Amino acid sequence: MTNRYEEASEAAKKLLCDFDEIDLAEEAAAANAALDAAYRERAHLVAHLASLYPSHIGHTDPNAPDWAVVIVETPAGQMSWHIAERDMDLFGHVMPTNRTCRGWDGHTTDEKYQRLEALIPDEGTALTRAERAEAAIARVRAIHTPVDTMAGRVCEGCMNCDPYEALPWPCRTIEALNSPEETPL
Ligand SMILES: [Zn+2]
Repeated sequence: MTNRYEEASEAAKKLLCDFDEIDLAEEAAAANAALDAAYRERAHLVAHLASLYPSHIGHTDPNAPDWAVVIVETPAGQMSWHIAERDMDLFGHVMPTNRTCRGWDGHTTDEKYQRLEALIPDEGTALTRAERAEAAIARVRAIHTPVDTMAGRVCEGCMNCDPYEALPWPCRTIEALNSPEETPL
């Protein structure tokens, strides 16, 4: 039993081969485009990280001369990433590497992402900060309380001993706490 491919003429076989090559080339181009897009998304995040901590960028990896290396020095340790030439426009804010810069400290990829994770404040710390902020707001509210005087209802916190110099309550501080988005300039 012969299959249809074997029965096909030489010209038809050649045509089929050409189609296969076109498909493969298209697939490879699509895969490369997807990879480039993922590298660019990663580059955006690394560029942001490099704006938060002392960083420098240069072509310092002899094993990958086409790629720049951005080195970010964080409190959790050094991190580094290879950056493609087409993404260098995202790193205009990063100092070019010079001889006084600390080079790659030998960290592995695993170590790098352990360090990145260590930079994330744990839940307890975040909660404490929210609680501290709420306590500070409560202290401010306790100062800016309404008081009725012969000049009308004024803010005790803004009164400064003289009710005629006082601001009507709610004062701008209380208004700012109540509706931060709508605070007049
Ligand atoms: Zn006030």
